[in-house]
Amino acid sequence: MSDKPNDLTYFEGKIVPTSEAKLSLQTHALQYGTSVFGGIRGYYNEEQKNLFVFRIRDHFQRLINSTKIMQLQTLRTPDELVDITLDLLKQCNYRQNVYIRPLVYTSALQLSPRFHDVPTQVGIYVIPLNDYLDTTNGLSTCVSSWRRIDDTTIPTMSKVSGGYVNSALAKSEAVQNGFDEAIFLDSRGLVSEGSAENIFLVRGGKIITPSLESSILEGITRRTIFALANHLGISYEERSISRSELYIADEIFFSGTGVQVAWVKSVDRRVIGDGKVGSVSKKLQDLYFNVVKGNEKSFMDWLTPIY
Ligand code: PMP
Repeated sequence: MSDKPNDLTYFEGKIVPTSEAKLSLQTHALQYGTSVFGGIRGYYNEEQKNLFVFRIRDHFQRLINSTKIMQLQTLRTPDELVDITLDLLKQCNYRQNVYIRPLVYTSALQLSPRFHDVPTQVGIYVIPLNDYLDTTNGLSTCVSSWRRIDDTTIPTMSKVSGGYVNSALAKSEAVQNGFDEAIFLDSRGLVSEGSAENIFLVRGGKIITPSLESSILEGITRRTIFALANHLGISYEERSISRSELYIADEIFFSGTGVQVAWVKSVDRRVIGDGKVGSVSKKLQDLYFNVVKGNEKSFMDWLTPIY
């Protein structure tokens, strides 16, 4: 087989050249943000000559849960979506790290924001992607002046496109003020998460992360971190975290499919720990990268090989 990748997209029930996957300006989802999406990574292992997709079934289960929360018509089961994606990836023939973006969107050319009584479509595209934020040098962050949307405003456990206006506001504010990333407080003023990643603090050797009641997305990488922490004998706790606790943490790191595991160097210009990568963050990050690349025998169940 040729080593050349093919730029293909799953669109309106078929795998087509990406250039043919086009939508009308009148599409309901484009006007109202009434779509839900996922983000999945595939890691190419050069030695094993294989592309490994990380926790694909869990990602599609969450996508279906997102549609359920929003009352979007669900056309496929998680297993059917997994099969479509594996077929798409085989045909794309990538020999590099990729990012997979599935989307369930209201596809009608109609007015009136609503979730009921509007047809949907599933689309899936794939792009080559390496690091999205720096995972080696430490990120400079700020607490956003924008609060995280509350679960009672827009359900935060659904990856609904409209909700990402909140992330875009925080991210732009942070970057325009010279920071790499923003940290949201929830409507109560407690730490919630980053613009597109969950947050962990390390205090006294233990990892601490906000609980679901802090209007976070329940990250699949967050869940992965819990399992990796167990494996390494590191204890973890889900609880409320106040803003000031950020400043006195020994270490802070973000987790997410896009960000992977990236450590935080500063928050609001206060240096975290000694400003270098902490030992707990480093251990978890190293193990994470070994696991996703298919170099850890005990975690191969999370990976789906493409070739
Ligand atoms: N929070 C938000 C708001 C996100 O967009 C993401 C990325 N999906 C995450 C957390 C991390 O989730 P996951 O680990 O499942 O990628």
